[in-house]
Amino acid sequence: MERISHYIGGRIVPGVSGRSGPVYDPATGQETHRVDFASQDEVRGAIATAAAAFPHWRATSLSRRADILFRVRETLHRHRQELAELITAQHGKVVSDAMGEVARGLENVEFACGVPHLLKGAYTEQASTGVDVYSIRQPLGVVAGISPFNFPAMVPMWMFANAIACGNTFVLKPSEKDPAASLRIAELLTEAGVPDGVFNVVQGDRVAVDAILADPDVQAVSFVGSTPVARALQEAATRSGKRVQALAGAKNHMVVLPDADLDMAADAAVSAGFGSAGERCMAISVVVAVGAIGDRLVAAIKERMARVRIGDGRDAGSEMGPLVTREHRDRVAGYLDSGPAQGATLVVDGREDPIARGSGFFLGVSLLDHVTPAMDCYRDEIFGPVLSVVRVQTYEEAIALVNNNPWGNGAAIFTRDGGAARQFQFDVEAGMVGVNVPIPVPVGYYSFGGWKHSLFGDTHIYGPEGIQFYTRGKVVTSRWPDPSTSTVDLGFPRTR
Ligand code: NAD
Repeated sequence: MERISHYIGGRIVPGVSGRSGPVYDPATGQETHRVDFASQDEVRGAIATAAAAFPHWRATSLSRRADILFRVRETLHRHRQELAELITAQHGKVVSDAMGEVARGLENVEFACGVPHLLKGAYTEQASTGVDVYSIRQPLGVVAGISPFNFPAMVPMWMFANAIACGNTFVLKPSEKDPAASLRIAELLTEAGVPDGVFNVVQGDRVAVDAILADPDVQAVSFVGSTPVARALQEAATRSGKRVQALAGAKNHMVVLPDADLDMAADAAVSAGFGSAGERCMAISVVVAVGAIGDRLVAAIKERMARVRIGDGRDAGSEMGPLVTREHRDRVAGYLDSGPAQGATLVVDGREDPIARGSGFFLGVSLLDHVTPAMDCYRDEIFGPVLSVVRVQTYEEAIALVNNNPWGNGAAIFTRDGGAARQFQFDVEAGMVGVNVPIPVPVGYYSFGGWKHSLFGDTHIYGPEGIQFYTRGKVVTSRWPDPSTSTVDLGFPRTR
């Protein structure tokens, strides 16, 4: 069976630990690859390689680094279809959705191409007589990224684009469930001119993560994954003196006020609830129906659900694919038992979809109505194609529900009332807010991050906060008693 290995120092390096894990095609349920699991020594080797590459990369001029990033953007863009197909083959999301993932990831590379501008500091002339003061930002050294299964290309791009643009060298530990995309990205980075050792990939599980956290050469860790792992990782990284940002789980609410455009709200709930089979940290998992709109909204959502085309994702027609593993599919399906047992109404049961009876990890779209905060289907992050509807009578009840939830990644409001939307934006305890937009993932020149149990650490990821995370500031106070030396050069000034 084909193996998926590490990428260290500009080449694929087969694992030697003797440990590996299965990688499945979720559409067929077949094991298609084995992924090597790195030992502590193999992780150390990758970090040592990144550390050795750091001095030269750090000293590489901003214009050269920007030039390489432009080539990275072009190379990844040229291979976007291939990357999307790799994602579909191991994650299960449909190819059109995977193409969207690659495009949203590339936004971060495009942002990082502007690194000369992004790293500009401030300058104060004559702060004291003959004394100038200025600020600069410098890279940290070796930084690491640990990414989740649900965005095997985009989340790594959230991390490495800014990290390497700022002059750091990078070690990525992708999810062991769908590791092929990151390995291909590593090869394409080398092809685009990223020097050997600047971007490395170690495959593996918890052993690799623990080795990264324990390694004194790693200065900062970006993590994206589930809340329990994020919380533990942030604590461990902080204890070992590393800078850390740990983006975590979510339970995103979509509040629908009685005056909302019903069709727009129902379209949005179905798109954002079932896109990528609900395996998005910004998926809508709870619709909060306020007042009289409840029955009509549930009927409109149900009617649209019947038209969702589920398939293996390779054909242009399918809109939703399988879940990532059999175990995950079964866990998600379990809420269709526990929800009704705890008092919810099962409006649509995705287990009855014929595709759910095949060998792939499919579950049909499912809808639970009359869900309450005490139920497991409300309390847990389901991370699958199960949408819950909570009924409330007033805006105040709706906002209290959203704000009492321990997570605060995204939250959306659907209304025609600008004042109500503005009040929601003011009140809501979430890091990313949508007004008639169900999945408000910020564009690459803003930053992404939730509140409360959706993010541990201070800075949000990518965009301006990403630049801040991957650099540290320095303020220089200078005085020059003599003019500096100069040379005669009649050529048109060029960057060097
Ligand atoms: P996960 O926490 O299981 O795994 C994430 C990464 O951590 C993987 O690389 C995995 O190998 C590693 N890992 C898993 N268990 C570990 C352990 N005990 N110790 C050390 N490392 C461990 O998450 P997942 O299932 O891959 O991804 C889905 C989760 O990620 C969901 O909770 C989702 O909401 C969240 N997510 C959040 C965001 C965000 O931006 N907030 C984005 C995407 C996904």
